[in-house]
Amino acid sequence: MQKSANNADIFKYCPKCGAAALHFVKSNKLVCDVCSFEFYHNTAVAVVAIITNDKGQLLFVERALQPSIGMLDFPGGFVDPGESAENAVTREIKEELDLDVTDLQYFCSEPNTCYEYKSVIYKTVDFAYICKIADLAKAKPADDAKAILFISPDEVDAEKIAFDSTKTILARYIASL
Ligand SMILES: [Zn+2]
Repeated sequence: MQKSANNADIFKYCPKCGAAALHFVKSNKLVCDVCSFEFYHNTAVAVVAIITNDKGQLLFVERALQPSIGMLDFPGGFVDPGESAENAVTREIKEELDLDVTDLQYFCSEPNTCYEYKSVIYKTVDFAYICKIADLAKAKPADDAKAILFISPDEVDAEKIAFDSTKTILARYIASL
């Protein structure tokens, strides 16, 4: 079923006064008609890691969880409150792959507008970092990664990529080679 793009069917009741009077006045701004409560459903920051082996193959994870379970993605995740994007990508690589990032370099950012989790659509901006890893052979999938795959950039099947942001980041990475 096609969801409304801004969660209008989910966010209906005002969390302050309880009236069924909440509505979006902008794509990210909710207002209550009864008590004038306002809430910004803002873009969430996420990070992804571009990791290559010594053959130049890219590390992808097979997603263990929804959304897009079974699809391929770069390893990464959401930035926690109070955390820098650099710390987030380092933490996520430890959690998902049990690997230590030794160096990272900002690559680009791309928006993702279709991250749906338990009926709520989250709009994210994904920051991509090119990461160097201490010992890539130790990679073990965990957390929201089910399996690890190394794929040559020219052999990636775009149909198996989970998110539009990942597809665009991959295309920009290939263009940069
Ligand atoms: Zn209200």
